[in-house]
Amino acid sequence: TPRIGVLALQGAFEAHASRLRSLGAETVLVRTPEQLAGLDGLIIPGGESTTFLKHLERGGFFDALKTFARDTPTFGTCAGAILLATGVRNPEQRSLAAMDITVERNAYGRQNESHILETETSIPGGPLEMVYIRAPRIAETGPEVTTLAERNGSPTLVRQGHLLAATFHPELSEDPRVHQLFLDIVRSTK
Ligand code: GLN
Repeated sequence: TPRIGVLALQGAFEAHASRLRSLGAETVLVRTPEQLAGLDGLIIPGGESTTFLKHLERGGFFDALKTFARDTPTFGTCAGAILLATGVRNPEQRSLAAMDITVERNAYGRQNESHILETETSIPGGPLEMVYIRAPRIAETGPEVTTLAERNGSPTLVRQGHLLAATFHPELSEDPRVHQLFLDIVRSTK
């Protein structure tokens, strides 16, 4: 059974944990850097990336997470994708620089605070529902990054080896395919 952590400092962690459990994973709500030890993978959920950063500045958490994401499967959704990115704009802010992507925060405007789109992706099984909440836009991707879904030409789900990032909230849709993909990445990395 894979042991998957969900960073539980803030934001939408509970829905991720229950989705992972329904797919057969054991979950750990991670609130201290020590809890990263022994995990097979980690989800960094959506929320507010600036608030995450404030919490992570304490007790060496930021550096522990940066080291963790270097070689352990990590999936960042929305604010989590912002944290994994190498470059952050609007405004610039500190990040783990784990994934070779540049993101623009709050890219879809205030009038579009949240919305749901459904499109074909490279995940088999038909169109995927994607829930966006004050979502970032992935503006640039490096050569090691594979785009699995996009929206108006901008990637919304990307993979770089053991790392996965989504600008939407897969935990808010019924469809388990994105979390299943992450568990498949965890299994293949183990
Ligand atoms: N707007 C948030 C940020 O910039 C992300 C929103 C989300 O995670 N749903 O950090």
